[in-house]
Amino acid sequence: MSVELRGIGMTSQRTRDRLVVRLREAGIQDERVLEVMRDTPRHIFVDEALASRAYEDTSLPIGFSQTISQPYIVAHMTEVLLKDFTPSRVLEVGTGSGYQTAVLAQLVPEVYTVERIAGLQEQARQRLARQLRLSNIRYKHSDGNWGWKQYAPYDGILVTAAPEEVPEELFNQLAEGGRLVIPSGPNGQQQLRVYTRDGESMKESVLGTVSFVPLLTGES
Ligand code: SAH
Repeated sequence: MSVELRGIGMTSQRTRDRLVVRLREAGIQDERVLEVMRDTPRHIFVDEALASRAYEDTSLPIGFSQTISQPYIVAHMTEVLLKDFTPSRVLEVGTGSGYQTAVLAQLVPEVYTVERIAGLQEQARQRLARQLRLSNIRYKHSDGNWGWKQYAPYDGILVTAAPEEVPEELFNQLAEGGRLVIPSGPNGQQQLRVYTRDGESMKESVLGTVSFVPLLTGES
């Protein structure tokens, strides 16, 4: 492995191990998720100037007024998506830095990821394909409010930005028994929710208050 991926000092394996200890203390239990987060170099997903902070449990700026999600939130959403179930095809809305995408791609067979900011998605693609050599990801530059119909239905959908209300099209693209993990609600009052499709109805559970950047409309 290259020095860049392996990391040194504040980006070394020891620093990553400490992050995993903190995630466990915060309640993350899924060993598959913890192992993947121990192995994924989060420092390559942020600007070099911020690399020394990459293993703190905080969100960080990634440009274009967006942020890389806090590691706890990535772990929590992934754990919820995979609880007692391994989806084979997952749609992610909001590629951003690609960090959550990298975690998913190491846990499920196929990942489809949609991002409205072309520059962010291109950077993410380079990291995931060239640096991490993850080849089970397809990318689309578009407004994720419309999902990605071409490959629907999905057994899992994970949304990393918050709409006020869950877009109908995401429900439509969820397979029978499939699970949608999404923050939603007005700014300052967002809740993380999980929906499971049961025929024509959706079973909903509310997991708690969260703070995400808004799910916007249109492309940029
Ligand atoms: N999982 C990412 C989170 C980035 S923040 C990471 O950890 O890096 C949320 C992302 O959602 C941003 O990149 C933002 O541009 C994107 N986004 C916001 N609205 C969107 C929409 N309608 N369609 C697709 N992506 C959207």
